[in-house]
Amino acid sequence: MSQNLITEEKVYEELKKAIVETLRVDESSITPESSLINDLGAESLDFLDINYRLEQAFGMKMARHFVLEHIEEMFGEGTALDEEGQLTEKAIELLKIRFGDNMAELKAGMDMDEIPAMVTVQSMAQGVMDILSSLPEKCPKCGNSAWKSDDGAKVACGSCGESAAYANGDDLTKAWLTTVQEEKNIF
Ligand SMILES: [Zn+2]
Repeated sequence: MSQNLITEEKVYEELKKAIVETLRVDESSITPESSLINDLGAESLDFLDINYRLEQAFGMKMARHFVLEHIEEMFGEGTALDEEGQLTEKAIELLKIRFGDNMAELKAGMDMDEIPAMVTVQSMAQGVMDILSSLPEKCPKCGNSAWKSDDGAKVACGSCGESAAYANGDDLTKAWLTTVQEEKNIF
């Protein structure tokens, strides 16, 4: 369901806040195209911190694992990465479907260590919006369609008060992989 309770502007606002608080960078240095690692100086552990802040802000669960890990788990060892830890052509095909122009530099034979530097402010915001748009139409507790948000970030049922029931990021990735595999039979 696409819901308009939380605007794209709000997602960027909270993401920038999380980045500023975690990385101690000036907000004016953050653009949608900024690579968190290359442009803003993030290290691996900083992603956990930023994700945590986003989870607190919106009341949802970000993905813990990157799509490559899910590919290997679902379609077998070696499907996403070869013995040298380089991305397979099939993995690249899939990442291009998922991230498109957000990760224009993707090519087969890349080392998986090069991937984190491709995460941009825009691709993180998209990840948040994907989760937020998983909100079911009806509240699973009372069955009413009465979602509302008082602060433009946290959503709760206006009828029974239950917090918004979003899919978690990892489950969304797996569901997406299943659908793409059914449609395109990549693996
Ligand atoms: Zn309810």
